[in-house]
Amino acid sequence: MSKGVYFYTNQFLKYDMGAQHPLKPTRLERTHDLLAAYGALDHVEVREPAKVPLEDLSLAHSAEYIETVDRLSAGEHVPFPFRYGFGYGDNPVFPDMWDASLLYTGASLDAAQAVLDGAPVAMNISGGLHHAHWDRAAGFCVFNDCVVAIHRLRRKFARVAYIDIDVHHGDGVQEAFYADPSVLTVSIHETGQTLFPGSGFVREVGVAEGTGYSVNVPLWPYTDDETWYWAWREAAWPIIQAFKPDAICFECGTDAHYLDPLARICLTAQGWLRAVTDVMGLQVPTVVLGGGGYNPTTVPRMWALAFAQAFGVSLPNETPETYALHDRIPLLRDDEEPPIAPHDLAQARAHARQTVAEVKERLFGHHGL
Ligand SMILES: [Zn+2]
Repeated sequence: MSKGVYFYTNQFLKYDMGAQHPLKPTRLERTHDLLAAYGALDHVEVREPAKVPLEDLSLAHSAEYIETVDRLSAGEHVPFPFRYGFGYGDNPVFPDMWDASLLYTGASLDAAQAVLDGAPVAMNISGGLHHAHWDRAAGFCVFNDCVVAIHRLRRKFARVAYIDIDVHHGDGVQEAFYADPSVLTVSIHETGQTLFPGSGFVREVGVAEGTGYSVNVPLWPYTDDETWYWAWREAAWPIIQAFKPDAICFECGTDAHYLDPLARICLTAQGWLRAVTDVMGLQVPTVVLGGGGYNPTTVPRMWALAFAQAFGVSLPNETPETYALHDRIPLLRDDEEPPIAPHDLAQARAHARQTVAEVKERLFGHHGL
C-alpha cells in the first residue's frame, strides 16, 4: 500500500494579508515545525506542490475573476475591486497574492491527484479556503482550492463527499456543487444567524438533481464538545454513511475551538478530533485540507492531531522539548474545560436539538434513512 502524502513549501507563507489581518501564515509554519519536531513527517512522503494550472482553476472561477486577481496582484488599477470581493478588511490585495494563491490551490489539486494515483490520504494544510466564490473573493479566500480538488477527484471517483468541520459554513463549495448529486457537501458550523458568511441553514438542501445532497448542521454559540458531537453523529454522520462516498475532501478548519477569537463554538481539541477520527475511520481515499483557525497556539496542535489521525501516526500528548514553541504549546490536547455559562449551554443544546430534528425531517428520506 502506498504511503500518505503531505504537501508543504515555505512559499505558502507568502499568502500574507498583512500584520493586522487575523489569517497569519505563521500557523502553517508552526504546524509544520511541530510535525517535524515529533518526527511525524518520516511517516509520510513530503512533496513540494506545484502552482495550479489555469485549466483546473477555470473549473472553479470565471476567466474574468482569474484575470482580475492577476492584475490586482501585479499592482494594476482595476476599477471597483469591491465587485470582486477585494478591498480593505477581509480581503485586502497583498503582494504575491497571485503566486501564493496559485500555489495553495495547486497543493490541494496535487493532493487530489496523489489520491487518484493511489495514496490513501493526502494532506495540504494551506488549503481549505472554502469561502471563495465563482467570481468573488470572500472570507480571506481568493481561490477555492476545495472546489478545484473535488473536480479532480471526480475524474476517477463517482461519488465524492465534501465534509467541512470549520466553524464557518462552507458556502463556496456548497454553491459550486449545489445542483450536483455526485458531490455531497456536509458542513457543521456556527449558525449564519450569528456568524459570517450568514448562510448554511438546514433549508439549503440543494436544487434540481442536487436536491438532498447539500447538508447543513448550524449550531448556536457556546455549543460544547458533547452537544457538537451529538449533532454531528445524529444529523451529519448517517447521511455521510448512507451516501457511501468513493472519495472524501475534508476541510479541517480549527476555528470551532473555544479559544478561537473569530467565533463562539466552544470545542476542545480532543472534542473536535472525534469527528476527524470518524471521517478517517471510513478508510476512503481522502484529501485532508486545512481551513480557518486564528489562535496561533491552538491551530498547530489541532492540525498535528489531525495529521496523526489521518496517517495513523501516534504522537505523545506532550510536545517535544526541541519544538521552539514547546513552552507555549506544551500539550496537543486541552487540559481544561471551556468555561460556559449554564444558560448559554442550555440555549446551545436546545438549538442543536432543533437543528437535528430539522435535518432528519428534510434530508433523511432522500437517503433512505
Ligand atoms: Zn472558518
